[in-house]
Amino acid sequence: MIAPPCVVDRDGIVVRAEYVEEAERLVGDYVDLDRRVRDMLGVHSPPTPEIWLMEEEFGETVNGLSGFTPPIVCLERGHHDNRQVVAHELSHHYQRRWPARLPTVVDEGLADLVAGMARDQLEEVRERHYHTLRRTRVQSIDHVLELPAEDFEEIPHLWGSRAVRSVGFAIVDKLGVDGLLQMCQRANALDLDAVPSDWFEPVWSAVASRSFQQKEIPPGLEVVTLL
Ligand SMILES: [Zn+2]
Repeated sequence: MIAPPCVVDRDGIVVRAEYVEEAERLVGDYVDLDRRVRDMLGVHSPPTPEIWLMEEEFGETVNGLSGFTPPIVCLERGHHDNRQVVAHELSHHYQRRWPARLPTVVDEGLADLVAGMARDQLEEVRERHYHTLRRTRVQSIDHVLELPAEDFEEIPHLWGSRAVRSVGFAIVDKLGVDGLLQMCQRANALDLDAVPSDWFEPVWSAVASRSFQQKEIPPGLEVVTLL
């Protein structure tokens, strides 16, 4: 992957693009989103990822990964909602500074919540996720909470992948960002690298029994099903 040629650096916030005007246009927005996401997650130290505005297709996995130094968030030119992509990936990036990792679905839920708040669109994001959940039966929450990132691609159909993200969102929405951070601190105090996934099961039960028609059925191969 080759970096786009034009660079704009505003106080350490770096955007690269094909044309300098594009990078200039993006950087102001990015400075604002970065500040908001940091404030929400309580992380104030660098590095801040570089933004690369790319012409061609790129692997989703490049986004927010720290294998690059500094990390990179790739945006596709002409994508309909690059602000969402930036805020979501920044959330993943800064969450890694918390004292413990989160199950993948919870981390995805956090990134969607943070991106919704950073863009002043939390209500729309919430409605979309809750709409999905009202039409979904979660067959085995333990399985959903233990899905590794690689397995997101393996979920049998698009609905499943949307639904498990919505489960993560509902859990984070219930706990709040501060509640989630406190769980990470508790896990860290117990010398754990990651918050155990079963800590989230009671949270899901509380959400599901109140908001959605969940039925207790035995775990199956599919983790969710469309009602
Ligand atoms: Zn994500």
